[in-house]
Amino acid sequence: MKAEIISVGTELLLGQIVNTNAQIISQELQKIGIDVYYHTAVGDNKGRLTEIFHTAWNRSDVIITTGGLGPTQDDLTKEAIAEYLNLPLVLDEDSLNKIREYFQKRRREMPVNNWKQALLPEGSKPIPNQKGTAPGIFLEKGGKIVIMLPGPPFEMEAMLKDYVVPQLSKKTSSVIFSRVLKFYGIGESLLEEKIKDLIENQSNPTIAPLAKRGEVTIRLTAKAGSREEAMSLIEPVEAEIRSRFGEYLYAFDDENIEDVVARLLLEKNKTLAIAESCTGGLVSHKLTQVPGISNSLDRAIVTYSNRAKEEVLHVKSETLKNYGAVSEQTAVEMAEGARRISNTDIGLSTTGIAGPSGGSKEKPVGLVYMACADSSGCTVERHLFIGNRSDIKEMAANAALQLLRKKLLMLP
Ligand code: ATP
Repeated sequence: MKAEIISVGTELLLGQIVNTNAQIISQELQKIGIDVYYHTAVGDNKGRLTEIFHTAWNRSDVIITTGGLGPTQDDLTKEAIAEYLNLPLVLDEDSLNKIREYFQKRRREMPVNNWKQALLPEGSKPIPNQKGTAPGIFLEKGGKIVIMLPGPPFEMEAMLKDYVVPQLSKKTSSVIFSRVLKFYGIGESLLEEKIKDLIENQSNPTIAPLAKRGEVTIRLTAKAGSREEAMSLIEPVEAEIRSRFGEYLYAFDDENIEDVVARLLLEKNKTLAIAESCTGGLVSHKLTQVPGISNSLDRAIVTYSNRAKEEVLHVKSETLKNYGAVSEQTAVEMAEGARRISNTDIGLSTTGIAGPSGGSKEKPVGLVYMACADSSGCTVERHLFIGNRSDIKEMAANAALQLLRKKLLMLP
């Protein structure tokens, strides 16, 4: 079953709003095995909307529109589509009563315009709207399905999940299931090289590598009659990938590096103190996004100036003078200092140059040192990240968490 989504609204074309409706609809259709082939956005213009609908009608089995179901003059989705399909608009008494009730409950007079919302193309069914006035429209004609939903996302999403998805599920017998594998420490091209044969011979599941900000993911997507069947198609491919470079695999699906680190800290019952410079608290922010981390994280300190590094973490002034704030030696003293002053099992630090200024030939923008200290010693890493200020901070924070993960994996 081929589906496409038409988002109606001039605000979309002006860049005033982001087309989140299309994203949510695509996500929900994917779960029930319906392939979405096209997203189109069109303004509140009857001619152009009809033109787009004509194209969709000729190439798709399911067409879902959002927006333009309101009571005003520029809301014309229903009118344009009904006219194109030669269907008169007829009053649906039930929908009219529901719209009346909506206004009565709010003790407001129903504007005459809202009558318009109870008009449906002949032969269609109203999709109940619990959160607003405009009912959606479910229409089957010539072996095709046309679904019209209102624009406001909270109305649209509820109608999609409560009505549209169950109705469409009845008409399709397949599900799509994805598994995401996340890797760190291996480049995208090397990773692709190692699974070139698998990519070339892929069919079901499909194999899609994707690189972003220092990490690489592989999405395995299978289409089958049931979730279990799809999972059993994915399993052998996942096992093969793991056998080739499983040592770089650190998380699955929605799990982030901070989730993995938090789980390890809590499992291994270790306490942590963080001292950050160039990441400005981002490492701590990420970790504190994970509920329950207070059992492990004792404190997080941002020591931006040399004075703060000396006063709070007891980094030696000779170290700062001889090697500079962005150095292996300073990173080590920061991690050890954080651990010592807080009496925790582990100390983690970052110090670097996030740019865009402040770099030199010896110490360019993107140079970041990070260290992780525990009772067995201190591990320090040097990284050179490429990107703008926020990219560098993001990559440095993730790398520091990866360093902490490596340390935790070695601990009992
Ligand atoms: P209403 O009855 O509120 O007029 P409607 O069906 O006519 O509903 P629109 O007027 O097109 O919908 O859009 C209403 C609001 O919904 C927009 O101002 C915007 O905030 C939001 N919206 C519309 N389309 C989208 C979209 N594709 N993605 C995200 N938000 C959207």
